[in-house]
Amino acid sequence: MELPNSVQKVLQTLENAGFEAWCVGGCVRDSLLGLMPGDWDVTTSALPEETMAVFGSHAFPTGLQHGTVTVRSHHESIEVTTYRVDGAYHDHRRPDSVTFTRSLTEDLRRRDFTVNAMAMSLRGELCDPFDGQADLRNGILRCVGEPDKRFGEDALRILRGLRFAATLGFAIEEKTAASIHRNRDLLREIAVERIQVELFKLLAGKNAAAILRQFPDVIGVFWPEILPMVGFDQRNRHHCYDVWEHTLHAVEAVPCDPLLRCAMLLHDIGKPSCFTMDERGVGHFYGHSAVSRDLADGMLRRLKCGNALRETIVTLVDWHDREIPRTDKGVRRALRVLGEENLRRLLHIKRGDNMGQAPEYRHRQAEIDKGKAIMERLLAEDACFSLKQLAVNGHDMLVMGLTGPAIGKTLNKLLDAVVNGEVPNEREALLKNVKEFVTENRKSCN
Ligand code: ATP
Ligand code: MG
Repeated sequence: MELPNSVQKVLQTLENAGFEAWCVGGCVRDSLLGLMPGDWDVTTSALPEETMAVFGSHAFPTGLQHGTVTVRSHHESIEVTTYRVDGAYHDHRRPDSVTFTRSLTEDLRRRDFTVNAMAMSLRGELCDPFDGQADLRNGILRCVGEPDKRFGEDALRILRGLRFAATLGFAIEEKTAASIHRNRDLLREIAVERIQVELFKLLAGKNAAAILRQFPDVIGVFWPEILPMVGFDQRNRHHCYDVWEHTLHAVEAVPCDPLLRCAMLLHDIGKPSCFTMDERGVGHFYGHSAVSRDLADGMLRRLKCGNALRETIVTLVDWHDREIPRTDKGVRRALRVLGEENLRRLLHIKRGDNMGQAPEYRHRQAEIDKGKAIMERLLAEDACFSLKQLAVNGHDMLVMGLTGPAIGKTLNKLLDAVVNGEVPNEREALLKNVKEFVTENRKSCN
């Protein structure tokens, strides 16, 4: 794979000045896999001040204490970091100190996984002292060095490991996997914000369900609410899986979008605490959507998930068990409450939930498809379901003599009437309606 011009320029400039310089880490891994790297990192034998001197006004000291200089090249920013060895670790998070070295192999040794511990030169030579290429070919994620030691140094690597396995579709090597299970509690030392970032990347992975299946104990360290789902027998003929297996099938059935995946992971989180069994021995979970919604809200808050993301996920969890409307009016109402984007998401959630049911009960998909077809038609017809689509606006209400909160109230009433099919979304008809409304109000005031 060709290195981008901006990266070539940085490597060449460092080499011309007499230093070694290599691309390193994720960008090497991704280019060997034929994927487009998200960013390109460069590692060099030059000390930070040497890098600063070589690039002059194009160099910015963004992380000097770790040896990182950001270089502007062809309008792109490339992080250039000096070969480095990490000192002792005491907090399971970060080294107490870092020291610079002139050895590339020493720098690669501090990296987390073999597939992340390769470097590539300007001429395409690979430096791969830990056999990352073989692991890449075989789809294996393996620690560089002794797993217990590596996870002990920095517990975030536990979750990074699950994340890479999920996104790359790799199997976690046996000793590495056993060590992840064994060291999982060290995750408590890690900031929740960093956990949240890794978790959402994991959930977006094509193999997220398989990794969740293998490591519920790890997720359970920060989200213990997950654990009662594992092995929970539903005692209901609609379900051929326990709650956890049902959840994983549902996760697998929705697109690789972290928001949808997270909503799917949490949609039945309240089931175990809602379980009741009737006199025939059939299991029920009355009210589980609301319980799941509240649990999900708390779980996402605990990870300091952004408000908008949390609210959307919580709404989807709340709505997951409602029937998808299959009339024009019903779909317009759903659009009014949820908006197009979230209704589309809900359709994915409904489909995922359905895919996790016993095969003979998966007929729900036809109902979902019908609701979706109605939604598509209504959207194509530009049907009105929001205030900004309404054929009248606040100014019209002012002209009609309304003031203050009455304006918003009246517009919302008009929108309800349009959505319910009682009044067409036409200016004249709506204004006539307002007139009646005003007269009635006057009457009731007098
Ligand atoms: P992506 O950018 O796709 O998330 P990446 O592998 O590039 O994946 P980064 O977080 O950008 O991940 O880190 C770049 C490189 O730094 C990694 O490939 C790895 O070599 C090293 N690295 C990052 N975080 C750690 C860590 N916690 N422990 C050890 N090495 C790490
Ligand atoms: Mg990266």
